[in-house]
Amino acid sequence: MALLVVGSVAFDCVETPHGKVDDAMGGSASYFSYAASYFTRVRLVGVIGKDFPEKYKEVLRKRNIDMAGLQVANGKTFRWSGVYDKTMNERTTRSVELNVFADFDARIPESFRDTEYVFLANGSPVMQKRVLEQMTRMKFAVADTMNHWIQDQRPQLMELLKHIDGIVVNDEEARLLTGLTNLISAGHAIRKMGPKIVIVKKGEHGALLLGDGFFFAAPAYPLETVKDPTGAGDSFGGGMMGYLAETGDLSPANLKKAVLYGTVCASFTVEDFSLDRLQQIERRDVDTRYREFVEMLRV
Ligand code: AMP
Repeated sequence: MALLVVGSVAFDCVETPHGKVDDAMGGSASYFSYAASYFTRVRLVGVIGKDFPEKYKEVLRKRNIDMAGLQVANGKTFRWSGVYDKTMNERTTRSVELNVFADFDARIPESFRDTEYVFLANGSPVMQKRVLEQMTRMKFAVADTMNHWIQDQRPQLMELLKHIDGIVVNDEEARLLTGLTNLISAGHAIRKMGPKIVIVKKGEHGALLLGDGFFFAAPAYPLETVKDPTGAGDSFGGGMMGYLAETGDLSPANLKKAVLYGTVCASFTVEDFSLDRLQQIERRDVDTRYREFVEMLRV
């Protein structure tokens, strides 16, 4: 089944202890759609400026990602810059230039409106809700968010939560949203706000999945070399939603598998800067690592 993603397409400037890239291809929708494309047909909605190079679009086109929803606006493409500390667990944003993303009107093309699986990547909750209102056959919608929206647009975010099936948050966001320190309690509290399933990402410590009557804790895939954690969260989302859209199965057992596929996709992303590592792999590499991961978890 097809999968729709709405989010940012960006230039990223990233510095980690392993190196530095300037104006690399980034953005939540880019990472998400690339990872999801190993599993299913992906439809992307986002905005770029006239400065976005053809070679970056080609990266997505090669994966058959449908870019009919990628608007080209007058102005500059969204630009994000960040630096990671020695442990790579802490990220500091150096600058965010919203540029054309500031006025992004998430119009969903007519041909995309019947998509059953929807991922609302990080963006304003008002824009995210507007996307939902345009969908005609939605079966499963999951949203991502960030501190900024939790702090500055809490009522709008609370409204969105009533209309989505799942939410993906990191540990810090879960605590900020609920005021609770314990992540399991926070996850349950977020479920009471609306979403049937809650995924709490814990970076190198893996992810928690909470649903009605089920709970799952997945570790991160162990890697010796992590070059750039940027995009890990979005690739996690892409792998998870891609697998769910491919199988069309939302049972607890399959949701758990989807979390493991998301973890595997994120593990490839962080092995190199930008989308470089993802561009070197095929679906069979994802499956091989998935099998190794499952084997590793068996006692
Ligand atoms: P992640 O590491 O998964 O949290 O995602 C990093 C990606 O999100 C980068 O490629 C950025 O371009 C993009 N990004 C950073 N800040 C924002 C924002 N405020 N809105 C949308 N996308 C963003």
